[in-house]
Amino acid sequence: MKNYDLHSHSTASDGSLNPSELIRLAKNAGVDCLALTDHDGIDGIEEAKQQAQAVNLEFIPGIELSVSWGKFTIHIVGLNINTSYIPLLAGTEQLKSYRLWRGEQISKGLEKFGIKGALSGAQKFSKGKMIGRMHFANFLVEGGYCKDIRSVFKKFLIKNKPGYIHGQWATLENAVSWIMGAGGVAVIAHPGRYPFKNKKLKLLISEFIEMGGKGIEVISGSHSLADIRRMTTIAQECELYASIGSDFHNPDISWNKLGKLTPLPDLCTPVWNAWESREVSII
Ligand code: AMP
Ligand code: MN
Ligand code: MN
Ligand code: MN
Repeated sequence: MKNYDLHSHSTASDGSLNPSELIRLAKNAGVDCLALTDHDGIDGIEEAKQQAQAVNLEFIPGIELSVSWGKFTIHIVGLNINTSYIPLLAGTEQLKSYRLWRGEQISKGLEKFGIKGALSGAQKFSKGKMIGRMHFANFLVEGGYCKDIRSVFKKFLIKNKPGYIHGQWATLENAVSWIMGAGGVAVIAHPGRYPFKNKKLKLLISEFIEMGGKGIEVISGSHSLADIRRMTTIAQECELYASIGSDFHNPDISWNKLGKLTPLPDLCTPVWNAWESREVSII
């Protein structure tokens, strides 16, 4: 059985390794097939693809789109996408400029709290690429405002804190249609992290399926054993493909599970059937 990891980040969004470093680390960690799924952009894909070829690692081009669903922010992963699909690229441009505007607002919020220069400080970490809360977190840790990333989110960057701005992201319909139009498979990312009971999660899933969504992450770096059991049942009941991904950002954080994920339960239909069976049918 191949070791798949279908959710990871590079410096093209808020990961700490550049795409080549990420690919080499994945290879060394025993991953056979990696998807790069940076937030709201595909700028790391080309470099990752080349490096994967060089080290003989199977590579899946992907993305993780930020979506506003009612008052909630959720994430939709797109796997095996054609990264030249224009509507997807146009969508990522919109999200990128929204992120810059939000960054200015976050910076203003922090300034009111007495913290100056947060936007340019965060941009030092994002290096002109997609800017996200992780870059603000890096700036705040560096400035000594908090001891680590986890506490900085808690103190500054979540709801009701000075550096939090409620996101206005893509609609679920647009996100799924960009991914499908790009020939990819849309997957609900880390469902265990949303504050949803089964009824709400199933409402999301039914809208998602109606729009063309096909999969859900059963194994995620942030899922507990209880989350895994719950999502296995839900994937079966809703006839969704099951995906597996570490959501790797940084080799230093304790919940880094790159190459060390629990395998997908046997009861699941793996998401790679969506593209691997397509290859078989061509033969
Ligand atoms: P953004 O899309 O810019 O709002 O940032 C979301 C990202 O911030 C996630 O993908 C994680 O990388 C990171 N993040 C969110 N909440 C936390 C947290 N509590 N601790 C550490 N990282 C977090
Ligand atoms: Mn992230
Ligand atoms: Mn996410
Ligand atoms: Mn992610």
